Amino acid sequence: MAARISHWIDGKPWAGVAARTGEVYDPATGAVSGLVDFAAPSEVDEAVSAAARAFPGWRDTSLAARSKVLFRFRELLVANKDELAAIVTAEHGKVLDDAAGEVGRAIENVEFACGVPALLKGGFSENASTKVDVYSIRQPLGVVGVISPFNFPAMVPLWFVPNAIACGNTVVLKPSEKDPSAANFIADLFARAGLPDGVFNVLHGDKVAVDGLLTHPTVRGISFVGSTPIAKYVYETGTSNGKRVQALGGAKNHMVVLPDADLDLAADAAVSAGFGSAGERCMAVSVVVAVDPVGDELIERVKSRMAVLKVGDGREKDSEMGPLVTAAHRDKVTSYLDAGVAAGATLAVDGRDHEIAGPADGFWLGPTLFDNVRPDMSIYQDEIFGPVLAVVRTDSYESAVELINNNPYGNGTAIFTNDGGAARRFQNEIEVGMVGVNVPIPVPVGYYSFGGWKNSLFGDTHAYGPDGLHFYTRTKVVTSRWLDPSHGGVNLGFPRND
Ligand code: NAD
Repeated sequence: MAARISHWIDGKPWAGVAARTGEVYDPATGAVSGLVDFAAPSEVDEAVSAAARAFPGWRDTSLAARSKVLFRFRELLVANKDELAAIVTAEHGKVLDDAAGEVGRAIENVEFACGVPALLKGGFSENASTKVDVYSIRQPLGVVGVISPFNFPAMVPLWFVPNAIACGNTVVLKPSEKDPSAANFIADLFARAGLPDGVFNVLHGDKVAVDGLLTHPTVRGISFVGSTPIAKYVYETGTSNGKRVQALGGAKNHMVVLPDADLDLAADAAVSAGFGSAGERCMAVSVVVAVDPVGDELIERVKSRMAVLKVGDGREKDSEMGPLVTAAHRDKVTSYLDAGVAAGATLAVDGRDHEIAGPADGFWLGPTLFDNVRPDMSIYQDEIFGPVLAVVRTDSYESAVELINNNPYGNGTAIFTNDGGAARRFQNEIEVGMVGVNVPIPVPVGYYSFGGWKNSLFGDTHAYGPDGLHFYTRTKVVTSRWLDPSHGGVNLGFPRND
């Protein structure tokens, strides 16, 4: 029977009955595994009100006490990481090992936020003017909304929530309706860690829930991750409603292979980063830029690795790649195979022919490789978000850089080379937010920040790390003078510092 997945409001599962629900699938079997609440505007109000009620108490909770809750939450996450990974696999489809990797990166973000007492230190200038001290403090925004995509149902919420609450905000999370259960599991762990009721709430649903958060007068900030058109919409709607917004969008990540690269390393990287999580990663490599004369040899090595990839149910130990998240998404991704052929690309490996170790009704598509892809083709221009790797051949380092810099996305990129000078030039010249040198998925560690350029990010601050603390706090500067005998009487001039 399909499980009910309800909102989580004020420290517990919401007891009401949702007017609308959505189906959640097990992507490996195609069966409906759950029914998730879809919030109506009144439920948005309930979740935001719970967060607003919790805010005054939480913002005045000491840094030491907030950090203790986060330490306890971190311990609970570690103790329950296998269960959380299994929940991710059951609704997303990615293989268990990959889901465990996602949870591991989520834990990194919690560990960063545990250091909040040290991280929120302000500045202090004694005697900035005669007997006047100036200091800066960072204060929380209030109620903030976090809206997350389907592809990292545990990690992306935990990019934001730990920093948001560490800084003293209260949160309403709107996870993806495609794999909503991880959010409730996380909410339960927070409650067990001693987080006061209402500090973290989960509101499930679709556009109605998102629009409710974007226009709600009590919500002060929005962190969004998803596709570029929705990210742009969220940024424009949220900011025009007076909110601080960071909206991370889609990607088309290029991996450049120079002729001097270690081709086995490059082929391993292209296959791992192209087909890991069935290509449903915003940092997946979707374009390999093969600089002459490396193309033929690289493609042979990539093909031989693709041929032996085990595609099957993510719960099976030996599966390397799982299904796509829904049938609709699988069909959309598959439509690009015909589009690529029609546009004149060479279908070097057709994922429809790959052997699948799973039930026929699962949302399967095997790994696909296109060669001779040109920038005017839709398989190059669109974010396909599936196991489809495109190879663009080019004649020089310069034309590889020009190709990437002309692409409207700028999330991640990588260069494979043994030439340190070329790598250094690449990291300087490339217009992309996250760069890997012989590293295919350069997701920054938790104490740096994550974010792309161009159409991959709307807003000024990146996610998590130091940028996260900036996003979730407002700075206040206090200029203070305590009375002493030198008090000089009325002065209508502009305050001078001397
Ligand atoms: P999506 O844009 O469809 O959905 C993201 C969120 O927005 C979900 O919570 C969804 O319910 C909501 N939403 C969907 N349509 C909406 C609408 N019309 N109005 C308001 N809200 C709406 O994205 P997805 O398919 O869940 O996730 C995949 C996308 O996310 C890819 O484009 C991927 O590149 C991107 N992504 C980006 C990053 C990054 O850091 N830049 C990370 C992960 C995923």
